[in-house]
Amino acid sequence: MDYKELLARTEKLEEENPLLSFGYLGTSLLGRGIPMLTLGRGRLEVLYVGTHHALEWLTSDLLLRFLEEAKDPGTRRVSGVSIAELFECVKFYVVPMLNPDGVEYVFHGISDDNPIKERVLAMNGGSKTFSSWQANGRGVDLNHNYNDCFSEYQAASGIQSGAPTRFAGEEPESEPEVAYLCGFLRHHPKIRGVLSFHTQGEVIYYQSRGVMLPSSLRIAKRMEAVSGYRLERAEGLSSYGGLTDWCLRTMKIPAFTIECGRGENPLPKSELKKIYSDLRTLLYLFPTWL
Ligand SMILES: [Zn+2]
Repeated sequence: MDYKELLARTEKLEEENPLLSFGYLGTSLLGRGIPMLTLGRGRLEVLYVGTHHALEWLTSDLLLRFLEEAKDPGTRRVSGVSIAELFECVKFYVVPMLNPDGVEYVFHGISDDNPIKERVLAMNGGSKTFSSWQANGRGVDLNHNYNDCFSEYQAASGIQSGAPTRFAGEEPESEPEVAYLCGFLRHHPKIRGVLSFHTQGEVIYYQSRGVMLPSSLRIAKRMEAVSGYRLERAEGLSSYGGLTDWCLRTMKIPAFTIECGRGENPLPKSELKKIYSDLRTLLYLFPTWL
């Protein structure tokens, strides 16, 4: 989904569901509000984040589908757990699209009123087609911008300036999208677990270069059992400076990266049905495993 659709659907959610409230995490580099939805009124708090990477916008659709299904839980159950009771015990913070500027490049290209248009076009090799853009509005890969062995990654990756993917930025949390999310986590110490959604591979990463928390593997095994996704350890350059890495290594919060679906990015919308059906139980029950 593009940003316009995200806004239309998130605003509607609040009207339809008394247990859900709509707000903004903060503002993106190019001035777009980053929607954050709060679902449930329990004391057990978790955070779900979609679309760090622009091309992986299907994760926004996934999280919206979860939120939309949450209205009128009635007597429905997930693996024997009452959804209505779950929303009394748990509070889900959901950021469906952390990177709205990048998503807009992917869907609509770069607009004439973009103040850094020429710079961004140069990063994109002069092309007006942004079909493989992963970064934010100024070419920073948000999932390498967290404060986790930052200079080590920069030296190893060799990418020193804005690019469609993998540039970590000038310094940790230099990007507003990441800075707002880190600030939110620092100010919400009751958050007990974090899920970061990406595409693709049907894989769950539960540790960061050998570091995990005592509960990580146990929780990961529950996730594996209900989703059929494979557990993997994050190693190499892709495991530096991401949300999961920072949560595990600095914040000491159990965090997991979920690579949704299988195929070539961007996964088509037709994959959403299978992805949601594979991950539905996980989305609801993750807090109960913490
Ligand atoms: Zn990704």
